Amino acid sequence: MSSTDAAPAAGFAETVVRWQRASGRHGLPWQGTRDPYRIWLSEIMLQQTQVATVVDYYLRFLARFPDLRTLAAASQDEVMPYWAGLGYYARARNLHRCAREICERLGGAFPRRAEDIAQLPGIGRSTAAAIAAFAYGERAPIMDGNVKRVFTRYFGIYGNPAARAVELQLWDTAQAMLDAADASLDMGAYTQGLMDLGAGCCTRGKPACTLCPLAGGCYARINAKQHELPAPKPRKQAEERQCAMLILEQDGCVLLEQRPSSGIWGGLWCLPQYDDAQAMRAACRSQGTDPGPAQRMAALSHTFTHFKLHIEPWLLRGAAPRLRQPAPGQAWTPVAALADTALPAPVRKLLCGLYPTDGLL
Ligand code: SF4
Repeated sequence: MSSTDAAPAAGFAETVVRWQRASGRHGLPWQGTRDPYRIWLSEIMLQQTQVATVVDYYLRFLARFPDLRTLAAASQDEVMPYWAGLGYYARARNLHRCAREICERLGGAFPRRAEDIAQLPGIGRSTAAAIAAFAYGERAPIMDGNVKRVFTRYFGIYGNPAARAVELQLWDTAQAMLDAADASLDMGAYTQGLMDLGAGCCTRGKPACTLCPLAGGCYARINAKQHELPAPKPRKQAEERQCAMLILEQDGCVLLEQRPSSGIWGGLWCLPQYDDAQAMRAACRSQGTDPGPAQRMAALSHTFTHFKLHIEPWLLRGAAPRLRQPAPGQAWTPVAALADTALPAPVRKLLCGLYPTDGLL
């Protein structure tokens, strides 16, 4: 069901632009530039992550990798510590792959058209359009989670927004708004305005309709349907998984293992992980380490997009027969160096509890 025909399209984009200039977000570190590298980095970091969290990561990342060539020349191991704690690590791996691809295949020139940008690793249609709009002023529509909320409410678009048919309807509607807009439309302000409206005004729980520039024509406000739109996704029971992790400490060092470059926490340094405590003890014994004195620590949980991981941590101090040679992919890491190591958030939290004075937080 849709009420798209009833909501006014004329002036939609211009209204958003006027509102953005007067009331939108300004002065963020990635605004006021046309450098596609800086814009691209911000768009990738902002996926699934709040602006307030991204700012420090963005500035730190740029200080170390100020341009595409510097990023492409670095190894993945050099990049990952600058992403550690931000989550969704495939974003960082794709960013790095993408920088290399642009340098090797395109001579270092960032593509200009949204259609070409969307061919790069880890860049979807909406992100490509945002980069092209901010860097080059291209008239390409965006459709991220925030914008979906604004469009479903304003136009009264029902159905799961992640379903193919509904998504196509949303994209068509977004394109129609651009087609109806004036030729001189400021694409940067329009794109930013849609993002700002979704993030700050048309929020999920309590939309601030009295402050919204679209209130006059909004289907959801007029019909008091704000809480029915967007239609909720069908609920799936989150899967629960268990594991044991071992903090093996010896001579001021902790044994860490690097994750394979794809998959959960890909490329990050993690504690040795086992299915359960029994498997952990068996692995210790097979490596000549007595697991007897291992102490169980307080359990913790970490939520991923598709499952929840319950971690049973164990601490074993000074029990390795000697500072044994680490296996390939393992490293004895000095406690003092943990702060600069790319650790997943729950591992960092665990180690913070043990070594609170070593600048891990
Ligand atoms: S009027 Fe309310 S529901 Fe409609 S777009 Fe604005 S904030 Fe969202």
